[in-house]
Amino acid sequence: MHNFVYDALPSRVVFGYGALGQIRDELARLGCERGLILSTPRQRQEVQALSQPLGERLVGVYEGAVMHVPAEVANAARLQADACKADCYIALGGGSTIGLAKAIAMSTGRPIVAVPTTYSGSEMTPIWGITEDGIKRTGRDPRVLPRCVIYDPSLTLTMPAKLSGPSGINAIAHCVEALYSENANPITSLIAEEGIAALGRSLPIIVQDPTHREARADALYGAYLAGAALGAVGMALHHKLCHTLGGSYALPHAPLHTVILPHVAHYNRHAAPDAMKRIARALDADDAPTALYNLAVTVGAKTSLKDIGMRREALGEAAEIACRNPYHNPRPVTAEGVLQLLQDAYDGRRPGI
Ligand code: NAD
Repeated sequence: MHNFVYDALPSRVVFGYGALGQIRDELARLGCERGLILSTPRQRQEVQALSQPLGERLVGVYEGAVMHVPAEVANAARLQADACKADCYIALGGGSTIGLAKAIAMSTGRPIVAVPTTYSGSEMTPIWGITEDGIKRTGRDPRVLPRCVIYDPSLTLTMPAKLSGPSGINAIAHCVEALYSENANPITSLIAEEGIAALGRSLPIIVQDPTHREARADALYGAYLAGAALGAVGMALHHKLCHTLGGSYALPHAPLHTVILPHVAHYNRHAAPDAMKRIARALDADDAPTALYNLAVTVGAKTSLKDIGMRREALGEAAEIACRNPYHNPRPVTAEGVLQLLQDAYDGRRPGI
């Protein structure tokens, strides 16, 4: 047993079918009386389901959340929050909607109640991001960590298989990198391994039957654990690469994580043997990178960068950008190594052993 430091994050979690009905009590616990729901037009039905238990504690709905939190969108939402005198923000949706709530909370300091509907894990982290003039700034701020998270798996039953698989593998990526993080500790490693196991067993069921209630609860539990791991420890090459590729080439977030993950695991395989052992054990397999690739195939996700909109000519530049600033990774990050990784990911090659 090595010495370690574990900075547990203070958030309250209410989990289970029917948890949505407790939203009013949760607002009361926080001393909040005027909630503004943040969402997207696609989720009007879910907004309706949340409005009912909120009753007069709901003072407005802003449904303009979009990917990457553009500053203009954050400003518009903040204006509406001020106009309806909201004293808390209820983020109903995926990482983009929760990200919008964080952008507003950062300037007002008001609490966020998150009601996640994807497996992004943003609800468990103090990480924010805002895009201005085409550049996404990110950072950590304890004020943006949701004070309460309501996980109701019934909200995920509508998530199409096409979105569920990559969203779940995006969550697995948080767990994988938590296992070899520079500040990994026995607690976050337990959380991460259990998160991979829960998602690894539930996602294949969900893509066959998106309304499978038990598998949906299991996957959301795994996503919660993945978010907790992401929030508690620093990430490495995989998240850095996805941030670079997503930001510079406008590639879709969860599908991008899904394509890159097996290749980063392969890149790190000899430098992080304990993490590989735990990933393989969680996925009930012999080899971690291969198991991650196989999971992507099983859930019907795209497995190559070329299929999600990357241009081959840009791979060299992407490798160069990803190596510009040093950061932790179990295996040293070199431009040649990353370029090879990106070429394999571009072609969708099965990682070798
Ligand atoms: P998203 O929030 O962009 O949602 C994608 C689409 O799915 C949206 O159109 C949304 O309306 C729809 N959707 C959401 N839930 C649904 C459901 N249950 N059924 C049907 N449709 C549904 O996607 P995401 O992958 O959750 O989030 C991606 C964003 O989150 C990225 O910008 C990423 O950077 C950010 N993120 C941030 C953190 C963090 O800690 N700050 C962590 C993970 C991701």
